[in-house]
Amino acid sequence: MAGASAEVIRAKIAGMDCGSCALTIEDGLRQLPGARRVAVDFTTETLELEGEVSREQVERRLRQLGYHLAEAAPAGARQAITPAAGPLRFFLTDPQQQVALVATIVVLAVSLFAWLSEWDPAQFIFNFTCTAAAAVVGTPTLIKGLRALWFGRRVSIELLMTVAALGALCIGEMGEAATVVLLFTFGEGLERFSATRARESLKSLMSLQPEMATVIRAHAAGAHGDAHDDGHGAAHEHHEVVPASHVFVGDLVLVRPGERIAADGVIAQGESSVNQAAVTGESIPVARGPGDGVLAGTVNGEGALRVTVTRLPADSTVARIARLVEQAQAQRSPAEAFIDRFARWYTPAVVALALLVVAVPTLFAGGQLLEGGDGSHGWLYRGLALLIIACPCALVISIPVTVVSSLTRLARLGVLVKGGEQLDRLAEVRTLAFDKTGTLTRGRPSVTAVQGRDCAHEPEPQAACEGCDDVVALAASVEGSSEHPIAHAIMARARERGLTHRYPPAAAVVAAAGRGVTGQLRGVAVSVGTEALMSARGAAAGVGQFARLTESRRTVMLVARDTSVVGAIGVEDTRREETPAVIDALRSTVPGVRTAMLTGDNERVALDVAQRLNLDEVRAQLLPADKLAAIEQLRSAHGPVAMIGDGINDAPALARADVGIAMGGAGSAQAMETADVVFMQDDLKRLPITLSVARRNRRIVKQNITLSLGLKLAFLALAIPGFATLWLAVVADVGTTVLVTLNGMRMLKAK
Ligand code: ADP
Ligand code: MG
Repeated sequence: MAGASAEVIRAKIAGMDCGSCALTIEDGLRQLPGARRVAVDFTTETLELEGEVSREQVERRLRQLGYHLAEAAPAGARQAITPAAGPLRFFLTDPQQQVALVATIVVLAVSLFAWLSEWDPAQFIFNFTCTAAAAVVGTPTLIKGLRALWFGRRVSIELLMTVAALGALCIGEMGEAATVVLLFTFGEGLERFSATRARESLKSLMSLQPEMATVIRAHAAGAHGDAHDDGHGAAHEHHEVVPASHVFVGDLVLVRPGERIAADGVIAQGESSVNQAAVTGESIPVARGPGDGVLAGTVNGEGALRVTVTRLPADSTVARIARLVEQAQAQRSPAEAFIDRFARWYTPAVVALALLVVAVPTLFAGGQLLEGGDGSHGWLYRGLALLIIACPCALVISIPVTVVSSLTRLARLGVLVKGGEQLDRLAEVRTLAFDKTGTLTRGRPSVTAVQGRDCAHEPEPQAACEGCDDVVALAASVEGSSEHPIAHAIMARARERGLTHRYPPAAAVVAAAGRGVTGQLRGVAVSVGTEALMSARGAAAGVGQFARLTESRRTVMLVARDTSVVGAIGVEDTRREETPAVIDALRSTVPGVRTAMLTGDNERVALDVAQRLNLDEVRAQLLPADKLAAIEQLRSAHGPVAMIGDGINDAPALARADVGIAMGGAGSAQAMETADVVFMQDDLKRLPITLSVARRNRRIVKQNITLSLGLKLAFLALAIPGFATLWLAVVADVGTTVLVTLNGMRMLKAK
């Protein structure tokens, strides 16, 4: 097979009208020899196909089915509607809708005439007009239906509508036939319009990054661009406006006041306030100056900035968010997959029922095929009504439209949820397990006490004698290689007192997760960490002399040289002022919620924090493995658990929890990849909002499923005894789809 490869083909598909089109395309592509896995998502218009199939084959099959790849849109293809365009403008500009509109006016005029007139041929003219209208407007539907049947082996909505309309013509119900075709066409338009609206609101998220950037280059002879001297050192330079794809790491870019920043970078010069709402959802601008990081897609305030690029624009945080959000939206939750399977089964089942309804009473019970006798509809008519009720559109779209709206809403708030499944699990969570450092507390501790073995003074509060300094200097030789917040605190103290060069950096530094660090300094082992670490290093005996410090409310690091403890360093973390309010908000958002704190820190500190916050449960002195066990225990005792951490040293616990939530994701690429939910900003206030969106999402999904299934069942019950008219069935079908879409889109505006 020429051009065939076993790769995954990803593409955008254009021309889908409603959720069931995605099913038609999936079936059609699955018929291709070599295709293994096919997934088409209606809300994001994405296709993923795995197998030995070439792109050309996919393109050909799509065209056969009546769709096309978005990038290969034929001339005159339906134009994407801008979100600004109202429904009216959409209906007036779409060619198919125009034809249907004209046909409707003609049919209405003729039926008015036929109704008023006494003239004999009037009824004939009416019948003729209706048949013509049904034929003209319905032909594209007929073709689509036949294509899906032929190439996809699938009974599609279009086919069902066509059979229903043809059946009505056969019975002599010309008016009904025309009404079915016209209403269906308008309905498809309405569905397409609302789906486009939902999609547009997603796209706005993706297009935050500017396409052009102004790069500052040292002036070279013969270079073009406007050279000028800005008085800031570089006398000869020129500014070149280039596409973002031409910006490289290390480039210096100029960001003018009010401009959107084109790439992630560090400010080299200039001060300004930057609005980071695009990435973090926080709309209050933050002050930024030389040395501070800035993110692509965020908006510069009043000052001009020169930014050294640290990441390619294609790799920027906002670009990665956009990719992850799109992946999240294309992901199908088990519930969605179930509904899709159900729809595949539902349609043929109702079609079979329709056949039975026509055949059984007429063949075996003397029922009338055409006339019900008592004025009710004949069995053929009832069967036709069932065909229309067999359309699963509303059902198929009810979950994805809601979930995608919720994910978009959250992304705008700076909350990245990895998919509908994760969102749903979030709604089920009854227990919240918090990491302490960096989550409930700021995670930026500072040293507040030091005590050397031979120091005569009390460990309070900022004692700094020669003995103390030596303890700090010794600790700093190991902590220099650690990224832990406590290490940063110790290094800060060492810098403050000019102790960083007293000892060379220790060699062979190893982190004992949850306990501390050890390293080799001139052949002597130096360890810094908890009492447990001291025991493990054979230095337990010396711990007692620092009782006064270890019994305070601080987190205390013991410092040992070989097996003798030479000193202790106490650090304290700053509280987050917002934490108590967040815990209260959680209690009202999730009734009966259980809060627990899991920390590697000592019991005293942990209890102190937990009491102040009024948490239900505290577990202290946990090693990373203990945190996993704690999550398991919480789950078996109280059901689904969400773990909230800063993602720095609690990744395993985040992964083990039912939902792992990482804070401050904009700073950590790793957290963005591994957690189920990422708060871009280091802000605990996002937690209650996220939980409330997740719970609301679940409610609306339930409403939508009940609504779409309920209306179908109701019509089923009406159609069999002959009470449902064809056109009412179409109105109900289309109406439910639109209703469900609008209901789902409410999530976009959730508070
Ligand atoms: P938390 O659960 O609060 O995030 P960790 O599991 O990161 O805490 O750490 C638990 C304890 O281990 C800390 O309170 C500290 O005593 C010790 N520790 C961890 N890393 C270091 C380090 N780099 N230097 C010194 N002590 C450390
Ligand atoms: Mg931590």
